[in-house]
Amino acid sequence: RSWKGIHDRIVTKELPPLRNFYKGWPMSSKSSIDIDIKTVFFSHAHLDHIGLIDLIDDSIKKYMSNYSKEVLSFFRKKGIIKNNVSNIKIMDKPVKVGSFTVHPIPIDHDIPGALAFQIETSKGNIFYTGDIYFHGRTNKKSWNFVKYAKKNNPYILITEGTRFGWKFVTSLTEEQLKKQAISVLEQYNGILFANPYEPHIDRIQTFFEIANEKNKKFVITLPYAFMLNRYSGIGDTFAKDILSSPNTLIYKSEGMPNTWENETIGTFVDAAYVCKDQKNIVMLLDFMSTPELIDIKPEKGALYIHSGGEPLSSIDAENAKILLNWLKMFNIPYFNIHSPGHAAQPDLLHMAREINPEILLPIHTQIPERFEIASDNVKILDKGVIYNF
Ligand SMILES: [Zn+2]
Ligand SMILES: [Zn+2]
Repeated sequence: RSWKGIHDRIVTKELPPLRNFYKGWPMSSKSSIDIDIKTVFFSHAHLDHIGLIDLIDDSIKKYMSNYSKEVLSFFRKKGIIKNNVSNIKIMDKPVKVGSFTVHPIPIDHDIPGALAFQIETSKGNIFYTGDIYFHGRTNKKSWNFVKYAKKNNPYILITEGTRFGWKFVTSLTEEQLKKQAISVLEQYNGILFANPYEPHIDRIQTFFEIANEKNKKFVITLPYAFMLNRYSGIGDTFAKDILSSPNTLIYKSEGMPNTWENETIGTFVDAAYVCKDQKNIVMLLDFMSTPELIDIKPEKGALYIHSGGEPLSSIDAENAKILLNWLKMFNIPYFNIHSPGHAAQPDLLHMAREINPEILLPIHTQIPERFEIASDNVKILDKGVIYNF
């Protein structure tokens, strides 16, 4: 049976049955939820939040940060988001929707431009954390959000709880990750291949610093260069600094016309260059570019650091196997040096206790009950049900 798009996603409960919400899918009012949505707010541009944005009708307003819009164009270019998305609005100030006012509050997450939201209501404020962590380069933003929510009449806190149920409780800062990476690099001292997630500029910055501190060139494949060019275009100083550094070079695959290239500015090098000078190179190699190893011809001392890029081993075991097979073929040792972009369990509980809302609504978690130790008013929601507060 062929896949019938929106219809099948609604039947399998992957999408809520909303009327006049999906492209080309009016939906009878009999079988839909009794609510009309005219505006959607996107906290950030990870695929579990914007991956189906191209199914939403053009008439519906889509608010997001300027960074999220650039990441969206990255996923469009990659072909992960297939259809055009229109009616995008940049959310850089409060937005009024009906009787509510929604405020964007910048927080720290492992992608730039992540937002929490404050929704003013007659009963007090609703705060939504978005996806949040407290050990990134700009963790101050996350702590400021907690302080602000605590002081501003928090009626409801809608919070993520991703890491409940995970086995480890620690989180590493970018500085700590850098130290770990340098400690292995110093022992191998050949070409360092690293694979962070392309939109995660803070992690790219970490490897850029490693290259500088170890006096090596910083070579990046085109998807990284595309993303940095886009961030630079909206005034990101880290992206600008990395791209304008004489140390940064962009890797271009031999002979293949590359769709990323025409939007990328920088100094290009090829496999022969990397092969020849490999002992002096830190290279960001995205997963799809792994076969470039054939032309780069890694020598003894080469090493690979997986640092949050694809394949995400927990949800993409097949590609994780493929990656390891490639590395084995070239006898390259594999290291996983990474720290997740979500708050650790103690931080989640601390945040809930600090903000101390009248009602706590856990979402984005496998074990919402875990918040019950931090609040007497946890309400666990069922899919497809409308609740009144
Ligand atoms: Zn996220
Ligand atoms: Zn998420």
